[in-house]
Amino acid sequence: MTAQPPVTPAPPAVPAVASLAAPLVAPIASSPAAPAVASPAAASAPVPPPAPRVAPTVTPPPALSAAPPVVSPRQIIRSGLCIGCGSCAVGRADRGVGMGWDGYGQIRPQGAPAWLSTPDAGFSARCPFSPAAANEDAIAAARFPDAPLHDGRIGRHISCHVGAVAQPPFRERGSSGGLTTWVAAELMARGDIDGVLHVHPAGAEGGPGQPFFGYRIARTADALMAGARSRYHPVHLAQVLDEVRAVPGRYAVIGIPCFIKAVHLARAQDAVLDERIAVTLGLFCGHMKSARFVTSFAWQMGVDPGRVRAVEYRRKDTARPANVYTAELTLDGGTTAVRDWWNLADGDWGAGYFQNSACNFCDDVVAETADVSFGDAWVEPYSSDGRGTNVVIVRAPRIQALIDAGIADGRLELSPVDAGFVADTQAAGLRQRREGLAYRLTWARRGIRPVKRVAPSAAGLPVRRRAVYRTRAAISAWSHRMARLSAALGRPGLYVGWARRAYAVYEGLTYRRGRLAAAFDRIERRLGGPPGD
Ligand SMILES: Cc1cc2nc3c(=O)[nH]c(=O)nc-3n(C[C@H](O)[C@H](O)[C@H](O)COP(=O)(O)OP(=O)(O)OC[C@H]3O[C@@H](n4cnc5c(N)ncnc54)[C@H](O)[C@@H]3O)c2cc1C
Ligand code: SF4
Ligand code: SF4
Repeated sequence: MTAQPPVTPAPPAVPAVASLAAPLVAPIASSPAAPAVASPAAASAPVPPPAPRVAPTVTPPPALSAAPPVVSPRQIIRSGLCIGCGSCAVGRADRGVGMGWDGYGQIRPQGAPAWLSTPDAGFSARCPFSPAAANEDAIAAARFPDAPLHDGRIGRHISCHVGAVAQPPFRERGSSGGLTTWVAAELMARGDIDGVLHVHPAGAEGGPGQPFFGYRIARTADALMAGARSRYHPVHLAQVLDEVRAVPGRYAVIGIPCFIKAVHLARAQDAVLDERIAVTLGLFCGHMKSARFVTSFAWQMGVDPGRVRAVEYRRKDTARPANVYTAELTLDGGTTAVRDWWNLADGDWGAGYFQNSACNFCDDVVAETADVSFGDAWVEPYSSDGRGTNVVIVRAPRIQALIDAGIADGRLELSPVDAGFVADTQAAGLRQRREGLAYRLTWARRGIRPVKRVAPSAAGLPVRRRAVYRTRAAISAWSHRMARLSAALGRPGLYVGWARRAYAVYEGLTYRRGRLAAAFDRIERRLGGPPGD
């Protein structure tokens, strides 16, 4: 294992969720679920102190002494908590349950009213946003009981690194440093897995996640490479998990944090999935967009959304900084339209346009339950390196051995870093899902009350930060409605004009920039806020 700076030891495993444990401490070929046993050292380890810079840090879940509510799919959907993972639809196609699009470009479970509306204990333990489901701490404790390190921002781990793949063509083909595809390809080349569940362009043949992307199972290195790159587009796991159940083999799943959590919760209920899913590869996540984001790209590039045949969210250009995202649409007839996100009314990721509402209640930035997680190194000098640079968090010993071997033979260029370095690369995402989540949990809302690892709190939060979180949430909610209305009326300018005005408010509040900044500063001063001029 590579050297690591000292970080807090991991707290003990949680025996109550031992059935979720299948850490890769044994060869993958024989990866049955093993009961989680906390090591004596871990059992006596102190709970880590609060993490610096991002407050509040993850706290233990609220007391669950009262039995958690049994909920139905419809309650989750109506409470704005459905991320569209598809886990609840697995194995139910013959009973008419499937995944489909709603009017806002989001994927939702669909089925008979009785199934949708009936509270069910199995569903309640399986849905990643159900208040009755095991949380990320419990799942990670059961899966990685021997992980030597723990940090409230990135969870249990063995090591963290920054760098990229040196072996061509992974870095050129990847969105970031290419490590995600490299690790999956390496597992396949070693015969550890037979297939990888990941996200492909839908192509002419269509498929789940139409019109542009869907989960597929890659069974060759070429198919794996064809699915490289990040897709900020709704997709679901229902069909590929059905395929895993139907076709024996050992599989890896690549997914955003809530999807990896969903996979573990499904495995806890399904022995076949548990046996066949051998590895989980997580992607860090800011939030998920709706499919209408692509419509908005087209509107702002002056093309008919109906002509779009393929989407590239992050066209790679090694001559420009990695954090300057460029969207590329391929149109019927093969022509392309290109625009930097920066020049789009809704291109600031932080403003939350088209964000799935469930993301407002997410507290996992880095896929804490995955065997290994990959993100972008959003700190200098890496942000300016157009070739793309990963940060990677390793939790499973087998993945650690694979990465150590890659470093030793020169195929990976990685340097060890600590948890604080990784957290700094995701500072905005962590603020939104610690401080921001704590604040959002204090808001009155209809429907199911989410149970999170962050306690509700608005204490000490300056008025301007409150306004930023309120504005972001309003932009997320209204972007869906305004885009739907604009599409229905055939008036794209309605949405685009609204998006520009909303952004003027957001940037004035958040960055103290633009025509409204001075007015917000004056209001803040009157309310006794910080800017002392
Ligand atoms: C919705 C979303 C939000 C993200 N937010 C952040 C963030 O805030 N901060 C950050 O550092 N990184 C974020 N990432 C991760 C980042 O975009 C890169 O995917 C990551 O750094 C890995 O880069 P790579 O070059 O190693 O991956 P590549 O080698 O390009 O491989 C990426 C793999 O992920 C698969 N994939 C692509 N999209 C999806 C998807 N939607 N669901 C499941 N699998 C998918 C691909 O099929 C491919 O196998 C996000 C990714 C997604 C999909
Ligand atoms: S399991 Fe997934 S798709 Fe089903 S209701 Fe929950 S979040 Fe939505
Ligand atoms: S922010 Fe959280 S809930 Fe939203 S897509 Fe990402 S992992 Fe899922």
